[in-house]
This record gives sequence, structure tokens and C-alpha cells, in this order.
Amino acid sequence: MADDNAANSKWRPATQLVRGGTNRSNFAETNEAIFMTSGYIYDTAEQAQRAFQGEEDRFIYSRFSNPTVGMFEDRMALLEGAESCRATATGMAAVYASLAASVSAGDRLVASKALFGSCDYICRDILPKFGVESIMVDGTNLAEWEAALSEPTAAVFMETPSNPQMDIIDLPAVAEMAHNVGARVVVDNVFATPILQKPLELGADVVVYSGTKHIDGQGRAMGGCVLTDDVEWSDNDLKQFMRHTGPSLSPFNAWVHLKGLETLEIRVERHCRSAQKVAEFLETQPAVAKVLFPGLKSHPQYELAQKQMSGPGTVVCFEVDGDMARTFKFMNAMELIDISNNLGDAKSLMTHPATTTHQRMSPEGRLEVGITDNLVRLSVGLEDVDDIIEDLEQALKA
Ligand SMILES: *Cc1c(COP(=O)(O)O)cnc(C)c1O
Repeated sequence: MADDNAANSKWRPATQLVRGGTNRSNFAETNEAIFMTSGYIYDTAEQAQRAFQGEEDRFIYSRFSNPTVGMFEDRMALLEGAESCRATATGMAAVYASLAASVSAGDRLVASKALFGSCDYICRDILPKFGVESIMVDGTNLAEWEAALSEPTAAVFMETPSNPQMDIIDLPAVAEMAHNVGARVVVDNVFATPILQKPLELGADVVVYSGTKHIDGQGRAMGGCVLTDDVEWSDNDLKQFMRHTGPSLSPFNAWVHLKGLETLEIRVERHCRSAQKVAEFLETQPAVAKVLFPGLKSHPQYELAQKQMSGPGTVVCFEVDGDMARTFKFMNAMELIDISNNLGDAKSLMTHPATTTHQRMSPEGRLEVGITDNLVRLSVGLEDVDDIIEDLEQALKA
């Protein structure tokens, strides 16, 4: 199949989302085809030999590459403006692959403390088992980054905005410090989505996504990807890591993600508009102690968010005025909004991070990064925003 990407790269993002990377088979299908095949056949034994020697560019095995997965990778690369994209089975596979392909025993990793529970586990538990030294910093404090990045470092990892505290990190400033000590900067851009923030333009070297969140956006399929302009690293370290350890995306899930991308921009716009309204409503409520949302002037890094992001995001976090029992009572009183640990879904979903996504952390560790027992995370869905607000209002009264 022909590679149409060069011709596609002139299109604007909204067009890329619908058409980027489309690679039609000789059946001329309108919709992207699902190639549910694990392997591919060769005309001759010599051709198989040439394929394995890398002399002939073709599909070999779907653990390495697959036409449907390839369309998703090309569409993501065009959207992000990246030279390379490799799709993974989940967002965590993308985070782990990007870090494992960047560090070796004896290397240093510097990461911000405010991370999704599983990202935290990779940095603090898994990588140190292989001889990597992990240094965790307060991502919003540039002095802490400066101190940590005063000696040679292999990789820097951060989420901005972070899950669930919504910390915003000054990406250009941290990237400059990181590059001065030779570090590859990996940014988990899940909360911002490819629509609201372009980390590669802000100085990052690698961007990772959980496609499970806004890219699918309808709660159907797991997936993820790693994007970079560093083609040499992607074609060697990252490709070899993925080829031999097997975190590849299934063709079916890649197809679901391709369909998700077609509506990503219009969904994210609507999510953002509703999230802004919900955040402003919550700020007026006496039963709410604190609201964390980058689109509110009360957010500690509001100015930075305005500079780095083209929209406030789709998730609103807030503290209920009261203890955990009152917080649970409020959550249990919701009639429309579901209790779930997912986010970026068409359905509004609420999570209690301290007892779910971040329950593995120690109570002190959680408090250090602002995950209190009365903190809830609300992923604002695509329902009518007045219905979402009415549901919050009645649950806060109860
Ligand atoms: C959900 C999430 C991940 C992990 O993605 P999965 O697809 O669930 O593996 C990584 N980082 C952030 C910020 C997330 O919210």
C-alpha cells in the first residue's frame, strides 16, 4: 500500500483528524479497513529473507506493524506534527516503552511527583529495580527541577496538566534545563489531548498518549502511542523495545481509535466548554471547599495554562467541604454522573482518586501531592451541561 503522508501533511488539523494517514486497499473502501491478520505471506522464500534483512519494506508480523495500526500511527503523527508515531496496546505501555527505551542501569530519571498512579509506580518502583535512579520533584517548582537537573540525566518525565491535581508545568523552562544535561524529555499529554497542547513545539522530545481516554473518547477500546521527532531513537531503541517485548496495539482497537480521531476536535471543544461552566458553578457552591481547573483564575498556574494550552481541559477536580464519609455520600447521591475511574469519555464520570487510581500510594505520599480524602475528579462528558450541573447541585445538597 502506498504511503500518502507527504501529500497529506499540508492539511490543517481538522482535516488530518478525518483523513490523515488513510491508506485504501485495492477494494477502494470509503472507511478505513480493519486488517485482522497476525501475519503476512511471501511470494518466495527469498522475499521472506529480504524482508527479515530489512531490504524490502513490507508487513512481516502484526507485533511489528499492521496496515490498520499504521493508519492510526500516521494520523496521530500528522495531527501532532511529529516525525514518528508508534502505537501501543494501552497508555501505560506507551509510558513504559518511552522510558524503558531511554534509560539503562546507572542512569538518572527526573520526574514530577504529580503523576497518575501507574506512572508513579513505573518511576518509583519498576525502573529502580533495573538500576535506574529516580528523582521525584515538585513539577511546579522550577528551583527543584534546577537542583535535580544539575548533573547528567537520561530522561525527564512529567504530566501537564497532572492527574488529578491539575498541576501545570512550565514545559519550555524544564525542557531547556533537561537538554542542558542531555536528558530526553517525555511528556504525558493525556489531560491536554493533542487538540489543546503541542508539547513538541514547547520543547518536549517525546509525547505519550493513552488513546483509551479522549482519542477513543467513547469508553470502548484501550490504546496508546508514542510520538517523537527523534527518528533515530524511534527507529532503533523504541522500535526494538516494542518489537521484542510486544506491547502492540490490536488492529481492531486501532480502527476504533481512527474513528475516535474523526470527532476528537469537536468533542474536546464541547468537553472544554462544559467543563468551564461546571468549574465556575462549583466555585459558587458553599459545599465545595476548593476547585482545581486550569480555566479558572483561581488556579495557581492560570497564566501558564493560558500560555501553554489553547483550552482549559476536560477534567475538573474539587474538594468537598467535609471528610471522606461526606465525600462518598455526595458521590453516591449522583443520579446522572457515573462513578468510574476512566476519563475523557462521552459520559460524565467521577472518581475518588485517594481510594482508587492513587490508592497504592502511601497516605503521606498522597497528601504531599495534594490528593486528599475529600478530592474528587470529574471528567465532564458530552451530556447537556445543565443536566450535569443540576445533578451536582442536588448531590451537593444531599
Ligand atoms: C489513563 C492514563 C494513563 C494510562 O493509560 P491506559 O490507557 O489506561 O493504560 C497514563 N497517563 C495518564 C495521565 C492517564 O490519565
